[in-house]
Amino acid sequence: MSHLVNYSYCPVCKSESLKEVLSVQDFTVSKERFIIAECNNCSFRFTQGIPCETAIGRYYKSDSYISHTNTKAGLVNRLYHVARYFTMMIKESLVKNATKKGVGMMLDIGCGTGTFVHTMSVAGWNVVGLEPDADARALAVKKYNCDVYPAEDFYRLPESSYDAITMWHVLEHVHSLDDYLVQLKKLLAPKGKLIIAVPNYTSLDAGIYKENWAAYDVPRHLYHFSPASMRKLMERHDLRVVSIKPMWLDSYYISMLSEKYKKGNMVIALWNGFLSNLRAFFNKEKCSSVVYIIEKVS
Ligand SMILES: [Zn+2]
Repeated sequence: MSHLVNYSYCPVCKSESLKEVLSVQDFTVSKERFIIAECNNCSFRFTQGIPCETAIGRYYKSDSYISHTNTKAGLVNRLYHVARYFTMMIKESLVKNATKKGVGMMLDIGCGTGTFVHTMSVAGWNVVGLEPDADARALAVKKYNCDVYPAEDFYRLPESSYDAITMWHVLEHVHSLDDYLVQLKKLLAPKGKLIIAVPNYTSLDAGIYKENWAAYDVPRHLYHFSPASMRKLMERHDLRVVSIKPMWLDSYYISMLSEKYKKGNMVIALWNGFLSNLRAFFNKEKCSSVVYIIEKVS
């Protein structure tokens, strides 16, 4: 049977000095509310009372949500697909710049239907994808004939192999954070780079929308990173953040979803997305979503 995970200490720095900061609703699936706590030591935020790994599956079943899309959701989804096309190009150059390699070995964790695996394969990279959803895996193989395996295979992949390991909005979904990082470090080639994109709750749009900020996405998002807490997590695993890149489109997408949740106004969403990016233009650590480029310390 399912049980709920309530932390008595910070999953990143293990401090017991915690405070409750928000009560957030699951807007897309269950409509249940969850408490978000923050660590007073490292500023990491995390969702309390999350279903354990074997029980969280039902919170990912959003079929009714998708099939009953209203016009606003339809517009949001269409814009998302246009944005994805540009995002693929941005991600490809990000991997090449971070690794300083034209071609190499790459692992894409949480690859979905294989769009980025395909993009990098076409660019000449040797790419493997991992994806927990069987339907998405089948589609990836059907559409692109790419190498995509179940998420459990993560602990069976060859060590010291990958020039780049990408996790686009995936780490915030992983239950065993420490075990996962230990394995990520093992899989990296000696000069390999870990490329981790996550939402950033210290962004301006997160501050504006508070409990309606769509990127909290409870209980699917178990963690809510600040740049400081990401650095702390990596430090504890003998890894280091070498640079931070802003993801400019996410502020618009997240603001539009957030306005939808609070039954607000799409024009205001675009304005807030713009304001958030303007803030991030002067300090990229304030972007709505950020990409962390990470390497091994030794
Ligand atoms: Zn902490």
